[in-house]
Amino acid sequence: MTKESPIKKLLVANRGEIACRIFRTASQMGMATVAVYSQADREAQHRKLADESFPIGPAPAAESYLDGGKIIKIAKSSGADAIHPGYGFLSENAEFAEACESAGIIFVGPRAESIRAMGLKDRAKALMEKAGVPVVPGYHGKGQSLKTLKKAAEEIGYPVLIKAVAGGGGKGMRLVENQDQFEAALAGARREGEKAFGNPQVLLEKYLTKPRHIEIQVFGDQAGNVVHLFERDCSLQRRHQKVVEEAPAPGMTAGLRAKMCDAAVKAAKSISYVSAGTIEFIVDATEPLSDDSAFYFMEMNTRLQVEHPVTEYLTGHDLVALQLDIAMGKEIPFSQPTDLPDRHAIEVRLYAENPDKEFLPQSGELRFFRLADDIEGLRIDSGFVEGDNIGPFYDPMIAKIIVGAGRREQAIERLSSALEKSFVAGCETNLWYLAAIIASREFAAGEVDTGFLGRHHEALSAAKAPPGLDEFALAALILHESRKNSRRNIDWPGADRQSPWALSNGWRVNLSYQERLAFVVDGQKLSLTLQPLEDGIQVDYENQSIAISGTLAEGGELTASVNGRQVMILGAVDANRITLAIGPRALTLVLALGIDDEDVASEGPGAVHAPMPGRILKVFVEAGQAVTLEQPLLIMEAMKMEYTLTSPRNGFVGEILVKEGDQISEGGLILEVHDEAAQD
Ligand code: ADP
Repeated sequence: MTKESPIKKLLVANRGEIACRIFRTASQMGMATVAVYSQADREAQHRKLADESFPIGPAPAAESYLDGGKIIKIAKSSGADAIHPGYGFLSENAEFAEACESAGIIFVGPRAESIRAMGLKDRAKALMEKAGVPVVPGYHGKGQSLKTLKKAAEEIGYPVLIKAVAGGGGKGMRLVENQDQFEAALAGARREGEKAFGNPQVLLEKYLTKPRHIEIQVFGDQAGNVVHLFERDCSLQRRHQKVVEEAPAPGMTAGLRAKMCDAAVKAAKSISYVSAGTIEFIVDATEPLSDDSAFYFMEMNTRLQVEHPVTEYLTGHDLVALQLDIAMGKEIPFSQPTDLPDRHAIEVRLYAENPDKEFLPQSGELRFFRLADDIEGLRIDSGFVEGDNIGPFYDPMIAKIIVGAGRREQAIERLSSALEKSFVAGCETNLWYLAAIIASREFAAGEVDTGFLGRHHEALSAAKAPPGLDEFALAALILHESRKNSRRNIDWPGADRQSPWALSNGWRVNLSYQERLAFVVDGQKLSLTLQPLEDGIQVDYENQSIAISGTLAEGGELTASVNGRQVMILGAVDANRITLAIGPRALTLVLALGIDDEDVASEGPGAVHAPMPGRILKVFVEAGQAVTLEQPLLIMEAMKMEYTLTSPRNGFVGEILVKEGDQISEGGLILEVHDEAAQD
C-alpha cells in the first residue's frame, strides 16, 4: 500500500496555456496555486490566474523556467507541497524530479528513473525491444563515428532518418535520401542536438515513407496499476511538430487498436510507470489501416502531452486531476475502459508563425484575439488575451482550439465554423492555414499521414490569396472610419501626431476630396485612391473601383457592405499600421506616410531580411557571387532551430552586412541580390 499525502498548495513550473490549464483543475480540487514567471512574463495570464506568483529571473528559459534550484526554493518558501512541471521545460528532467523529492516536495510526474529510462531515444528503444515492443528498424549503437554511422545507414537502406538521441519537438532530426547527403545532414543533426540538448549523439532509423503518428495515452499509479486511454492521431505535422491531433484515429480498426494499446501498457509496465505518459508509435500507412498494419515504438513521453484535451473529451476524464490524485498516492479510480466511447475530438494548435514562409515563428502584439465562443463542444486552452505580446523567447503556440462531438464529421463541421468565426491579427498566425486544413476534402476523408501537410501545402496556401481590391477597400474604410472616430473622441492637443489621420492635410468630414494612399504589403508598394461618398467611400485601385460602407465600433468591429455583400470584420489603425481580421485571414498594411511613392520598399524584391530575431550560423556566399533563385545563402538560428535563407531571385550578391555569429533583429537587412555584379 502506498501512503497518501495530500497536496494543499501546488506550484506550476511552467507558463502559457498549460500553466493556466493546470491551475484551473488545481483550484477545482481545492488546492492553493503558485505561479513562477520570468521578466518577459510579468503581465502573463498564468501569473494573474494563480493565487500567488513569484519572479524567477530574466526572459531566457535557461535563467528562469529551466532553473530548477530557484523554482524549488520558491516552492519551499511559499509552502507549496507539490510542483507540476507541465510539458517542456523541466517536465522530463530526471535531476529536477530527484531534487524535488530530496527537498520533500511532490513532483507531479513519473519517478526520476522512468524519466531517465525513456529520456534518451536510443536507450528507450533498447528497453522496448527487450520488453517485446516493436521498434523502428535502425541503428542505436554506441559507435558514433562518421564511418560507423554511414555504414549503418547503408545497411538500413536509404532513405534514413538521423535523430539526436536526446531530441524532442522535432529538433535534431534530419532526413537523408542518399549517401551523398549523409555527412552534411549528420553535422546538422549533431549541431542541433548539441545546442538544444547538450548531446550530439544520434541514432539512425529506417525512414517510413508514409507513416501515421498514432500514440497511446497511459496512466500508472503507485500501486502498480496501469491503464490506457486509447489513441490519438497526430499525423498532421510540419517540421515534425504536431499541428492537428484527434481521438480516436480515423480509420483505426478495433484489432489494431487492441494490439497498440496492449503494447503501450506492456511498455509502461516494463518500467513500473507512474503518472501520465504517452507511447508514440508510427504506423505504416502505405495501405489503409488494418488489424495487421505494422506499428513501431518511437519514444515515450513521460509527461502530460500538449494534445491531452482530445483524450479528455473522448474519455471524460480530467487528466490533470488524475495526475494530481496519483501524485497524492491515490489509485487510479477506474478500471481499464474496454469500449471505445462514442465521441470524437479534434485539436488544432494556433501558432504565431508564417505558414507561407516555412512556418517561421513570429512575434508581435495580439492586436485582435477573439476566438469563437458560441460553438457547441468547443474548448479553448490559451495563456493569452487580446493585447498581449507574443515574445521571441518561448514556444510560439498561442492557443489550442479543441472541439468535441458525437461523430468525426460533426466535430469537423464544428471546428470549421469555430475557425471561421475566430479573429486573430497583429501578429502573423496559422489560423487561416488551420481553417484550410479542416475544410479540406482530404482531411474530411481521414487521409492523414505525416506527409499530409507537405503534399497539400500548395493547395492549403492558396487559402491566403494575396490581398486584392476588397481587402484594400476594407483597409481604406477602416482608416476613414477611424479618422472620423478620432476627430470625434480625441482631444486634439494630445493627439498622436504620428497617426495618419493627424497627418491628413486638409481633410474634412463631408467634404468631397480624393486622397492617394500608398500601402506597403510584403515589401511591395501599392497605391489607391480614396474618395468619401455620402455613405462610405469609393476606392479606386488599378482600374477597378468599389464602393464600400460601414461603421467602425469602439472594439474594432465593422460590418461592411461591399458591393451589397455584408461582411463582419475587425480593424484598427495604430500609428501607420492598419490591422484587419477578415474571418481567419489577417492582414497588416503599413501606410507609407510622407514617403515619396518611388522610395517605398526601395530595397526591392532582391533584399534578404531576417524573418525573425536570431543568430547568423553560417554564410554560404560571398559578395559578388552569382546566385540563382532559391539557392541557399545562409543559415540562421532562432529558438534553437535552424532556418535556411535562400535567394529571392537570380543575380549577384551585393555587400553582406552580417557575419557568422552576429545577432540580428527581425527585419534586419542581411544582403541584397542585384541584377548585375558590382563594378569595382
Ligand atoms: P521528437 O522527439 O523530436 O518529437 P519523434 O521521434 O517523436 O521526434 O518523431 C517526430 C515525428 O517525426 C514523428 O511524429 C513522425 O512524423 C516523424 N518520424 C519519426 N521517426 C520516423 C521514421 N522512422 N520514419 C518516418 N517518419 C518518422
